Amino acid sequence: MRLAFFDTKPYDKASFNKYAEGKDITIKYFETKLNEDTVDLASGYDAVCVFVNDIVNAKVIDRLVELGVGVVALRSAGFNNVDMKYAYGKIHVLRVPAYSPYAVAEHAMALLLTSVRRIHKAYIRTRDFNFSLQGMTGFDLHGKTIGVVGTGRIGRVFINICLGFGMKVLAYDKYPANGLADGDRVRYTDLDELMEKSDIISLHCPLTEDTYHLIDEKSLEKCKKGVIILNTSRGALVDAEALLNAIKSRKVGAACLDVYEEESDFFFEDYSGHILDDDILARLISMPNVIVSSHQAFLTEEALMNIAETTISNILGFFANGECPNELCYRCGNTEDCKTGKCF
Ligand code: NAD
Repeated sequence: MRLAFFDTKPYDKASFNKYAEGKDITIKYFETKLNEDTVDLASGYDAVCVFVNDIVNAKVIDRLVELGVGVVALRSAGFNNVDMKYAYGKIHVLRVPAYSPYAVAEHAMALLLTSVRRIHKAYIRTRDFNFSLQGMTGFDLHGKTIGVVGTGRIGRVFINICLGFGMKVLAYDKYPANGLADGDRVRYTDLDELMEKSDIISLHCPLTEDTYHLIDEKSLEKCKKGVIILNTSRGALVDAEALLNAIKSRKVGAACLDVYEEESDFFFEDYSGHILDDDILARLISMPNVIVSSHQAFLTEEALMNIAETTISNILGFFANGECPNELCYRCGNTEDCKTGKCF
């Protein structure tokens, strides 16, 4: 089995080499992302392995099929970068449905605490022997209301963390989870009430046609003045320009962003020493009340090992048995209930 691995980073090699060792799989690592310009690199391979900013659109899928590539193995849970409708019946798409919901949920809380307790400011000040507390006043999370959009694996872990802080949770999900509602502590509501009543809003739903720009000018208008927006899910859930305007007008009190709408042009690469072409991102980063991390919420040792183990076993299992429990399927709705190849 020959695998073409795109958008490789050193930490990918370490974990994937570990799980590929001694198995019937040869991996060729490419640093470049998969897209229409680079797809021919997949010539001679049985499968491609891609990450969140590789582009698997109709043209890429057609070319992969022409090249005889049978499988796209995502080493992520999200799959908004794959044209699933187009892929249906042409190429098999496997993913890693869960690798560490704790990694992402804990990062979300880390960003929130950093923001509300001004840790990012304190770190820089004390390195300069500036021990002044001017402008460092935060607020207690205890007793605050947090709106959680998406109560899947990550959203539920995040809710538990928030409950540990004594917060009240307003939850919204298109498909609410059984057994999560808990009186006043966790209450499912509609999006409007969540926007109106939350002190902090955290996004944990996938990017779909329904959720594109879930946070935009209109929804931000409904929010409390000073609301904190936390996005560790996918960039395009938030209209970045609307968010920037709401920060400028002081409607939004702070934003913590691990993902950004146009992140594929910048994230994961070193642009220090360059002039950033994206004015919205540059302006957001310049704000004292905005924290940006570059899609690193998943990046823990545990998650990397789980991603590598599941991806290798997805691919080998698929080529051995012709099916894989982690195959995505457009027809049955891309859900974990899909028993895979049967829907093709
Ligand atoms: P999950 O599938 O377990 O949960 C997603 C939840 O969103 C489900 O409960 C689903 O019903 C709900 N949902 C679907 N459509 C919705 C809608 N229109 N409105 C509200 N809720 C809706 O997924 P997960 O493992 O919890 O991951 C959530 C998201 O986190 C992923 O889609 C991915 O985009 C993102 N993610 C980010 C990172 C990172 O490093 N920043 C890493 C992993 C995942």
